[in-house]
Amino acid sequence: MMNIAINEKRLDQVADFLRGLDSCRPTDWTFPGLPAPNEPAVVDYFFTGVKHQYGFWLDDGTRYTEPMYAEVGGKRLKGSDFVWHSLRRSAASDPSIFDTKRQAEMSDAEVAAVFSDDQGRCPLPRLDTHGALWRAFARDLLAMEKTPVRIVAECRELLDPIPHLMKILSRLGGYKEDPLAKKAALLALILANRPERFLRAPAGTPFDIPPIVDYHNMRSCLRIGLLDVRDAALEKRLIDRRFVDAGVEAAIRGKVYDIVRELVRRSGKGIDSIDWFFFENRTRCPEMTEPDCPNCVLRDVCARRKDLFQPIFRTTCY
Ligand code: SF4
Repeated sequence: MMNIAINEKRLDQVADFLRGLDSCRPTDWTFPGLPAPNEPAVVDYFFTGVKHQYGFWLDDGTRYTEPMYAEVGGKRLKGSDFVWHSLRRSAASDPSIFDTKRQAEMSDAEVAAVFSDDQGRCPLPRLDTHGALWRAFARDLLAMEKTPVRIVAECRELLDPIPHLMKILSRLGGYKEDPLAKKAALLALILANRPERFLRAPAGTPFDIPPIVDYHNMRSCLRIGLLDVRDAALEKRLIDRRFVDAGVEAAIRGKVYDIVRELVRRSGKGIDSIDWFFFENRTRCPEMTEPDCPNCVLRDVCARRKDLFQPIFRTTCY
């Protein structure tokens, strides 16, 4: 039996800390690379783009080596930003890439061109999976006789749109593969928090969007000590950044899902605030450079287990 456990005492400490932290706030998803408010095709952009937010790291066959970087418009961008920027550039020069019928027939080479860098190369690891999910999404939409714009319009008719959106996404390629629905929850969060307010929560209630678990918040939870690893062999494997099996990955990811849900409940902050705080923590507590603990906002509540690393596992879920 794998010996990993949520540290309840630290969970309370971190939740208390976040409750009083003014900078723990949501973003409105208009940062550089993303469409401006009310830009044409903004809904298509996010439905298409969010499902490609995964796998931005390199390995040598046995272990993680480094994050993925590439240049778009002369800017050196990390994986997630690269996807946002390259998709927006490609859609500006050819808006028909969002046409569902066209998407269903696009080849791997055409998808590679959408996500290409300034040299015309696609740097995404496992490009074959991106091509497959790009087409599967469109084919599922065609089978359901829906488009992203129609889905949002349907959701806006409802008092509580999130469950309807999550149900539809659970049937669409690129979203339906993940039992924890990370990309579906991320899309819901973006649609709810954009300045256009594509989705609104029922009056007087916060949005009930599931936790969004990716490698950044798994690394944070392990380093902060929200999740204790009481298994020396597993701890060494995480520190060495070696591949783990599906059981280890699922166990750690499942615990982090529970931690995020509890941080929301105990801190009183919305999932949008907690998610953005942990996404931003990737810069405070990075992969390749020494974390700057003395200057980190979490320094007084963190266990500073800075050698620990997220479980290394290839997946299209995050
Ligand atoms: S930078 Fe240091 S204090 Fe901050 S989260 Fe990382 S390990 Fe904790």
